[in-house]
Amino acid sequence: MKLDVQQVLNWLEKTNEKIQMNKEYLTSLDRAIGDGDHGINMSRGFQEAIDKTTTTTYISVSDVLKDVAMTLISKVGGASGPLYGTAFLKMSMVVKNRELIDKKTLENALESALEGILQRGKAQLNDKTLVDVWTPVVDLLKAKEVIKGSELEEVAKNAMESTKERMAKKGRAAYLKERSIGHLDPGSVSSYYLFASLAEVLSEEE
Ligand code: ADP
Ligand code: MG
Repeated sequence: MKLDVQQVLNWLEKTNEKIQMNKEYLTSLDRAIGDGDHGINMSRGFQEAIDKTTTTTYISVSDVLKDVAMTLISKVGGASGPLYGTAFLKMSMVVKNRELIDKKTLENALESALEGILQRGKAQLNDKTLVDVWTPVVDLLKAKEVIKGSELEEVAKNAMESTKERMAKKGRAAYLKERSIGHLDPGSVSSYYLFASLAEVLSEEE
């Protein structure tokens, strides 16, 4: 597999479409166990990012990811902006000086992004945050020599769904303690959209 500038742009556009389409849904999930702004945060951030990337000419994948990172960090409030921003910044650093992202580079980029998320948010696996989706996705990439879009989508979806039965230990939902059980984690759902979109781009290549 290889992701060039156009495919990375496709990934971002597909992600943005899912976020815009599910803006109300993400907000309703966050209303149940947070402050009800996750849909607003993500839709504003990704729309601004897309506005930037669709009006810029890129020769490197690293610059695309860096512009997304800067937009998310500067335009999105809440926990999710800096967390997703850090993730994209780490990815951009790993793919620096490369025209294309191959399988090993994608694996390294997502692993570094997850490390950035963990460093910044101090959450652990199973704390009912987006870490619960990013971790199994990174594990999948590390375990497989070849990565199929359908596998990636399935792992991300199962991981997203598994957050429902967990009790939140980080983020606003942690204030609810046991009452956070029975609700999906909003950030895990938006991360699922990110990886489902990546899976679609990978499947188009297969
Ligand atoms: P806020 O919680 O500030 O209102 P959002 O609603 O946009 O920000 O994002 C909430 C999501 O961010 C949560 O559903 C969770 O997945 C993620 N999140 C919150 N805090 C952390 C953290 N410390 N580490 C990792 N992810 C976190
Ligand atoms: Mg919120």
